[in-house]
Amino acid sequence: MGKVLIIGAGGVGSVVANKVVQNKDVFTEIMLASRTRSKCDALAASLHGAPIRTAQVDADNVNELVALLTEFKPDIVINVALPYQDLAIMEACLATGVNYLDTANYEPKEEAKYEYSWQWAYRDRFREAGLTAILGCGFDPGVTSVFTAYAAKHHFDELHYLDIVDCNAGDHHKAFATNFNPEINIREVTQKGKYWENGRWVWTEPHEIHRPLTYPNIGAKESYLIYHEELESLVKNFPTLKRARFWMTFGQEYLTHLRVIQNIGMARIDPILYNGMEIVPIQFLKAVLPDPGELGENYTGETSIGCRIKGIKDGKARTYYVYNNCSHEAAYKETGAQGVSYTTSVPATIGAMLFMQGIWRKPGVFNVEEFDPDPFMAELNKQGLPWHELFDTDLELE
Ligand code: NDP
Repeated sequence: MGKVLIIGAGGVGSVVANKVVQNKDVFTEIMLASRTRSKCDALAASLHGAPIRTAQVDADNVNELVALLTEFKPDIVINVALPYQDLAIMEACLATGVNYLDTANYEPKEEAKYEYSWQWAYRDRFREAGLTAILGCGFDPGVTSVFTAYAAKHHFDELHYLDIVDCNAGDHHKAFATNFNPEINIREVTQKGKYWENGRWVWTEPHEIHRPLTYPNIGAKESYLIYHEELESLVKNFPTLKRARFWMTFGQEYLTHLRVIQNIGMARIDPILYNGMEIVPIQFLKAVLPDPGELGENYTGETSIGCRIKGIKDGKARTYYVYNNCSHEAAYKETGAQGVSYTTSVPATIGAMLFMQGIWRKPGVFNVEEFDPDPFMAELNKQGLPWHELFDTDLELE
């Protein structure tokens, strides 16, 4: 049906490549490009002879991207490099008439701050060019946003309270490791917390608010209120929300390591001089931590991510919990990667499939909740992330 260019060959890129190959009726030609070509070649070779072209590209460099896009002429780029590259890739897509999809919103390298304003600023240009840009199509953001849109479409007249709950109850048997790119992950979880209440943002100290929440098939896990990017678009697209929060589980061991990393300056994102050479401590740290793409082999347990929603249906109060549980072992068996890479990649592949099929295709820049959730929810069940619903249950969150 069309040509896809995957940019990024890390933990997420490897599962996207795997899933794209599994859907070759939709993705008829595939190219995998990244900073380190040997990783693309190794990945392509692992996919049992599937016809994947590979290329080297510095995705910070718009000219290099333009040259690659002009040569390969994809219908869509799946950007699973790092958030730093979002704008350069969007620029190159505009210059060459290519559609765009990513899983994480733009962050400037020099400031640990992420918001959609930079990418929303491209709305007019994509609309005028007749191109589609799909933002935040991983699990969270991504599936959590589609879950919310699905709830609004089918189960509520008004959404009032949204709590996105993200539990990783897996064990990778390492003293400390992050489940996706360590630099991006540590920047995200060490920020101040923030949630939406009564029309404004409320800030908290990092990890200040926490409580045990019970996750299906897992049990109670201490869950911490953090800021997460989908809250920004969801409160705009569902303006009846009185409150929107995001909770993530962390183990004590993880938090202790994180505190030490911060206290000794290894989470710093500004360059320092080391032996006459500039290095960024958090980038050095990434180089010595386990590669998230390699964690799968001994990873046990499962993730459970979902949306707990309260609102009104036919004049009556209703509660609703929609979630997916994903087994790390099953993800590894299927794709050679752990569950977090898997839960991010399957939605990215589905978003690109729906674009190819003309179902999620409209000119402009959109967050995923702005598309019809139904075909996406149907594909989740088919592509390895089945979801479950609970009605009028205790959401534990008043
Ligand atoms: P990794 O660090 O494992 O992989 C990133 C890949 O991007 C690597 O192959 C890297 O190349 C490549 N890359 C980095 N910089 C450039 C560049 N300038 N030009 C070309 N390629 C580059 O990260 P993950 O796979 O863990 O994460 C990928 C993305 O997925 C991130 O943006 C992350 O935020 C997002 N994500 C989203 C989630 C969601 O649910 N929405 C959840 C988890 C992750 P090299 O191999 O040379 O380093």
